[in-house]
Amino acid sequence: MFVLEPQHIYLNQSATDKQHALRLLADILIKDHLTQDGYLQGLQDREAQSSTYLGQGIAIPHGTPASRDKILQTGVRLAHFPQGVDWGNGNVVHLAVAISAKSDEHLQVLQMLTKALNDDVEQKIAKAITADEILAILNATPDSLLLHESLIKTDIHADDLDELAYQGYQLLKSQSLVGAGFLTNLHSDKAIFLQDNTWAVVGETSVFTPAVAIVKNHQLVDFNDKKMDTLVLIASNDKLDQQKLSNLLDVLFQTSLTNTNNSREIAQAIHAETVPDWIKKSVVVLNHHGLHARPATELVRLTKALTGDIKVSLDEINFVSAKSLTQLLSLGAVRGQTLTFIAEPNTDSETALDSVILAVREGLGETIEPINESKPNTVADNLADEWIDPFSQNEENKGIPASRGLAVGNAFVMRDKKYDYALISQNPSQEKQRLEQAVLTVKQSLQQLIDTASSKEIRQIFTAHLALLDDSELFNQVFVNLQKNMTAENAWHSHVEKTAKIQESLDNKLLAERAMDLRDVGDKVLAVLCGETLAELPNEPYILIKHDLMPSDVARLDNRYVSGILTAVGGASSHSAIVARALSIPAIVGAGEQVLEIAQKTPVLINGATGEFVINPTDNLLEQASLEQERQQLEQTKALQTCQIPAITLDNHQVHVMANLGDVNNAESAVAGGAEGVGLLRTELVFMKHSQMPDIQTQINDYKKVFDAMAHRPVVVRTLDVGGDKPLPYVAMKAEENPFLGVRGVRLTLRKPEIFKQQLTALIQASKQSSPDQDLRIMFPMIGRVEEWQKAREILDEVLAENPHNKLQVGMMIEVPSSAIMAEKFAPLVDFFSIGTNDLTQYAMAIDRGHPVLSREADGLHPSVLQLIDTTVKSAHKYGKWVGVCGELGADRQAIPILLGLGVDELSISSSQIALAKMQIRSLTLSDCKQLAIKALGCDTAAAVRALTA
Ligand code: PEP
Ligand code: MG
Repeated sequence: MFVLEPQHIYLNQSATDKQHALRLLADILIKDHLTQDGYLQGLQDREAQSSTYLGQGIAIPHGTPASRDKILQTGVRLAHFPQGVDWGNGNVVHLAVAISAKSDEHLQVLQMLTKALNDDVEQKIAKAITADEILAILNATPDSLLLHESLIKTDIHADDLDELAYQGYQLLKSQSLVGAGFLTNLHSDKAIFLQDNTWAVVGETSVFTPAVAIVKNHQLVDFNDKKMDTLVLIASNDKLDQQKLSNLLDVLFQTSLTNTNNSREIAQAIHAETVPDWIKKSVVVLNHHGLHARPATELVRLTKALTGDIKVSLDEINFVSAKSLTQLLSLGAVRGQTLTFIAEPNTDSETALDSVILAVREGLGETIEPINESKPNTVADNLADEWIDPFSQNEENKGIPASRGLAVGNAFVMRDKKYDYALISQNPSQEKQRLEQAVLTVKQSLQQLIDTASSKEIRQIFTAHLALLDDSELFNQVFVNLQKNMTAENAWHSHVEKTAKIQESLDNKLLAERAMDLRDVGDKVLAVLCGETLAELPNEPYILIKHDLMPSDVARLDNRYVSGILTAVGGASSHSAIVARALSIPAIVGAGEQVLEIAQKTPVLINGATGEFVINPTDNLLEQASLEQERQQLEQTKALQTCQIPAITLDNHQVHVMANLGDVNNAESAVAGGAEGVGLLRTELVFMKHSQMPDIQTQINDYKKVFDAMAHRPVVVRTLDVGGDKPLPYVAMKAEENPFLGVRGVRLTLRKPEIFKQQLTALIQASKQSSPDQDLRIMFPMIGRVEEWQKAREILDEVLAENPHNKLQVGMMIEVPSSAIMAEKFAPLVDFFSIGTNDLTQYAMAIDRGHPVLSREADGLHPSVLQLIDTTVKSAHKYGKWVGVCGELGADRQAIPILLGLGVDELSISSSQIALAKMQIRSLTLSDCKQLAIKALGCDTAAAVRALTA
């Protein structure tokens, strides 16, 4: 995010000509470590392609894409030329704004400058003496009052003034003119009587742009002993154009609105802007960096040649002239957004509209890459944008949320099967044959499942199952059993069960999961031996209810019919939950044994985001849920269409949204999903893919995949975090009573410095091989004491002595409460903090994060956790350090505004959540978030915090 500071402005500069000015600017950028040598060529090339003169004595020199590798940091520097510099075409520049930006960030500068350009500021800029004066001119927004036909709505069905006011608020909010606090602080009881049945109310809280909404009811309602049907809602702040408001009130005192129900007529009566009924055509912006100065200039060149007006808009409401460069830039249109053009009838603008659309589609002189065209909106577009939680009254039926989404269907309760079979046989060789035949059948069916699996996770699970059936160790003991005259069923089942029990008893989560896999395969072989066929699944949408879900249950699911999953036991990190998430099937786990008592075919509604479910939902609830489902689908589609747009709040605060990665091969898809970099690379998961300790070269190959895919984007790599529930089979570790409180994370790597050094070396070398100035950020997990940080840092320094890196930040995870409490001691030592809310919550609340029953009570929005986050952020910011959140909380819709309000600078979340999170952030204001965070910190319970954002 660009923030202009006085020290960014170089006053009293003089240049003989444009080339001299460019050299001067290039030197400033180098001196301030924003660019390297060579960027000057980019500035010159850009000017040669088209002048960067904006208007009002301002130019915005910036490099070509080819010169981006000379950029070290994103930033802007301003040179003030009181005498002016000839910029060609008769334009004189008094302020040159040199931009060093790697991606679309410079559109923000353009938007800011174009606001200033709407005023006559050229002389003021030329004569400015101090940097503050220049900043004031650039930041000034003229007084305004938006009066627009789109803010007028008639034929509303409201029962009282408050309902009518709500409708007006919705109109204002839909155009981001006001925020949520507007309605809460609106005193509708103080409405002013205008005339006839028309009243006015003024609101001054959370107003971003002064505007007027007019809402007219279909019938009269009683108010203050009088009648009313029309409400004029005035949103005012200190930028209100008083004169325009007083003109409007004069009109409203004199003109009766009783005789019309037509918003166009009302708009005309009050002299509001109307959208002309001109021919309209739309086109998606495909330019990599949106409608920035160069393509916009080309568009102006095309449109200026036309007689007749031609306008363009992003929202089909607020149109600007397509002939004005500054107005075009003020749209801030980025790649993927749709521009709608309208042209004045019977002019050559109308005739040429198709060719203008074509020119935009073809990139206005730039090379473009197509993206998916936007899909048309559906009916759900018109749904209220507030999610009405249909479950709020339903505290009893709750499990652990495992996979987001709403699902409705009839219950299909799959009860575990008990097989009856003989235990003794007199013919071991025949039994062996039977067993081998059954194993072969199961293998074939597994192979079929692998071939048709719809996701990588499922393929991996069944490949592992197949490997189990190839395990000669397993069969040796079964064959011994057969020699003891056991039947194939008995020999097989007793050994499988015994092995699974041993694995479970080792108190190791991964082995416990393997036990589950073993039982799953074991049951399949047993079923074939007993001549059983698996239960017939319904062929209509159903909710699968089971004690626990075996991976094979999930793989047999037909996505077209299974709408949701509900299990009696299991944690959010169980296999079934992971597979359900991979398949995007809404799921709740650990809901208790009573769910198995639900009668077959009973309608059930589940909410995988909250863990709540309703048995026999009412029609009303079902209707709401179906609308909500449609809304969620639409939201997801919209989010994906805009996932490359930065997450900037309505009041201009940028939050970086990064990806959590555990698989180096997923980096590219993360970028496609909107990731602005990697915020957490869980390297232990990368190690786990190897059956033995990866050597330096193997690690370099792995890490390089991430750096290459991320190009210059930042990559935060966490050093090995093994131990706890993540053992590495090839790192010998003693069994621990309490592995989560044992040798885990940095505690392990400090005890195995060779592994640590190798990893650090591989990371640094991989990043440099990918690019000499790759933005590498290394962090240590599970730091709880300053001594641990110092020791880890010493080891890193030893590695750096031999492998220097010129763009490295070193930080630490905040996931142990002691480090959060002492963040002020750590802050001067680190470059950044990354808060691991999964562990921070488990350790702060003393609840095992994977506990099948308790884990749902470990809510990261508990005020205790929020206080730890607050302390961390305040300490970091005091020392100018940034803070990210990389735990699951960062993707939680209700948590995002609170985290923003607490001052978190970056969210790192799973790739599939990035688009939605960015879209949500773009709808928030930092000021509202701050107020929310203060309230949240003062709550007693996590439920009270959630109620604030429900
Ligand atoms: C965390 O603890 O929040 C975190 C991000 O680390 P992990 O989930 O890998 O332990
Ligand atoms: Mg952790």
